[in-house]
Amino acid sequence: MIKQELLEIIKKIVSNLDNKFWEKDFPKDKKILLSCVKLQEETGELAWEVLTQLWRARQEKIDKFSNQNLEFEFADVVLSLLVLAEKMDIDINNALKEKLDKIQKRGGF
Ligand SMILES: [Mg+2]
Repeated sequence: MIKQELLEIIKKIVSNLDNKFWEKDFPKDKKILLSCVKLQEETGELAWEVLTQLWRARQEKIDKFSNQNLEFEFADVVLSLLVLAEKMDIDINNALKEKLDKIQKRGGF
């Protein structure tokens, strides 16, 4: 489902966070909470871009709107989600497969 190439990049991002941006003695639960907060930040930014596209934002924000920014916020959400999954040792491909199987069995597609 999600290409191994992207998952390897996510592992590099996580390693970079561990080695360059977070204090060495950060406990794992703090890193997970920080990753979770980051995901929420990015979903908020995506929501803001969606509202802007739907003309539900201040005029100055609407004037600066670009579809590329909207696309970047979608990417930020996916990347932040994958970082959180990696931090929590979630096998995202397996989780997606099992969840899609469950949705399919109840007639979702
Ligand atoms: Mg963002």
